[in-house]
Amino acid sequence: MSDTEPFSSGSSDIYQPPVYKSCSTSSDDDGSDVGLLTFQNQTNEANDKGMNILDEFNIDNPCPSTSGIAPKKRKSANPSQWKRNVIKKSIVTGKGYLNYKGREIGERKTGPDCCCKKYKCFVKINEEDRKLILENFNKLEETYVQNVYLGGLIKTENVERERSKTGTGKKRSCSHKYYIKLGNRNIQICRNGFASIHGISKKRVDNVAKEYQDPTVTKPAQSNRGKHHNC
Ligand SMILES: [Zn+2]
Repeated sequence: MSDTEPFSSGSSDIYQPPVYKSCSTSSDDDGSDVGLLTFQNQTNEANDKGMNILDEFNIDNPCPSTSGIAPKKRKSANPSQWKRNVIKKSIVTGKGYLNYKGREIGERKTGPDCCCKKYKCFVKINEEDRKLILENFNKLEETYVQNVYLGGLIKTENVERERSKTGTGKKRSCSHKYYIKLGNRNIQICRNGFASIHGISKKRVDNVAKEYQDPTVTKPAQSNRGKHHNC
């Protein structure tokens, strides 16, 4: 027991300098650990002071440009949340949105009754069907896909017609027929009714019809966007 006592006292002697504990607990450990700990402390201090300790390492590096250290992390972009893209998507899908000026734009709705006597579009296509057609149309989330769909409902016929006695009249070489598909039936309606039922402008109907001018063309040529060619 006498052996243990001095040992214990000795140990107590070793532990006596716990005064150092706060600043150098690592001094009791191996040198490597000390190095790590002190390094960490340094980096923390450096960061606190706003210094970048990595710069010091870069200076030591013979070729810092190819050191392979990754550049600062940037926030990952999320284009789907950009204002212009939100607005763009809302326009295409017919949802209500706030425009750039903060004005509220309502959702896409069925337009006014064409009241035509030839086809009686709004009689042939009842309210329920009109709603369903508009809903399905809004589900197509891209303008291009919508145009392909619309184009599939427009039939273009080449008409050789020249009706200008004076030579100033316009030459028409094609005409369009507009259809609504209900089940297996293709119901012909007028251009105004076609625009109203899809909640789109007559201008867009015309543009789609133009792109399908050639019956052999199966899809509108995207490269021709913005170029005008008279029908
Ligand atoms: Zn009509």
